[in-house]
Amino acid sequence: MPKKTGISHEELRRVNTSALLTWVHHNGPTTRARLTRELGLNRSTIGDLTSLLCDTGLVQELRPDQVDVEGVQVRRSGRPSLVVSPRPDVGVLALMLDVDRIVAGLFGLGGELSERRERRHQPGVHEVGQVVESATQMCREVLRARPDMAVLAVGVSVPGLVRSSDSLVHFAPNLGWTDVQFVDLLSSALALPVSVGNDADLGVLAEHLYGAAVGSSEVAYVGGTVGIGGGFLVHGQPLRGAEGYSGEVGHLTVDPDGHECRCGSRGCWETKIGANQLLASAGRLTGGGLAAVEEVVQAAVRGDEEAGAALDHAAYWLGFGMRALVRLFNPEVVVLGGTLGQVLEARHGRVLETLHERDGIDFAQNVSVRAGALGSDGPMLGAAEVALAPLLADPVSVMSAYREGNGAA
Ligand SMILES: [Zn+2]
Repeated sequence: MPKKTGISHEELRRVNTSALLTWVHHNGPTTRARLTRELGLNRSTIGDLTSLLCDTGLVQELRPDQVDVEGVQVRRSGRPSLVVSPRPDVGVLALMLDVDRIVAGLFGLGGELSERRERRHQPGVHEVGQVVESATQMCREVLRARPDMAVLAVGVSVPGLVRSSDSLVHFAPNLGWTDVQFVDLLSSALALPVSVGNDADLGVLAEHLYGAAVGSSEVAYVGGTVGIGGGFLVHGQPLRGAEGYSGEVGHLTVDPDGHECRCGSRGCWETKIGANQLLASAGRLTGGGLAAVEEVVQAAVRGDEEAGAALDHAAYWLGFGMRALVRLFNPEVVVLGGTLGQVLEARHGRVLETLHERDGIDFAQNVSVRAGALGSDGPMLGAAEVALAPLLADPVSVMSAYREGNGAA
């Protein structure tokens, strides 16, 4: 007979503090009464957990007039009911390596971005040492701007294949990187724990928690600017693959006679819908990212035919490739991030017309296609979420260890 195992007091406390902190982190300031309902715990347990997390410095109790909180009515007389709020002065650094830029930001509990720095790469230069140096400088700058903040870790978004066993950046074609151990390079420079993830995997996570896919468990996300990647949620869980490399939809061949791709193949989806292809076919300089694509959209509105034709072309191929994704994954929602969201908004009808092809069965009948709600910073928010995961899983131990490591009791 299997031995009966119970849950120790410590394990119970870990699970409950994790549930409470995760709830207020994702949903914002919440009354004790609502926490009681949402977490299925009694009032005194919620009271004890709140006190413990207050003492640990992870939440604070505020009067409702001090925070913006839904569904709280200020009592006319007597003591107002307090709301439990995540502490925005505890958080993580997030770093987004794009093909054309590096972005660094500080995120507090509650998901608020408090400091943000953006720097363009030297044109065409993605040498690893140089990128690490730039990223380190930017992170230090951001940290110096908020000396009051407890920063526990760093999350990094990379446009490439990231091996799940050890976070090795196995292949990032648009950076020209093969087998780069970015985690080690950055963590030794910053003396903080570092996690690295694929930009589209982080994008789908952020859109699911905070953006266009909240409440959906079957989600296909396609995002990017120059490079295009995919991230998928299946039953609410991220699809990873054996090594962590699933979802590289930008390198699905859609046109065997198409242009050569940075991955070495030909006619990949990203050579049809990537930002640089759109800019080139609109007669613009490549490399301008979202701002340059926005200029093309505005020019098309004003009647610029070359810009309009370029958008039509990108919209057709966007719908064409989405057909395959819809057949493969049967998602509830397809979220288009980065410049793809701009293409969708500018050419909604054409994208959907191509997706719902007229011949044969329409597999996309019940699929909702949406632009990402988090703009191009979505993957950075996802990177912050991954960096916060250890704290959310075991709030008291992780915070105590941090304070000990920083010489405070
Ligand atoms: Zn390719």
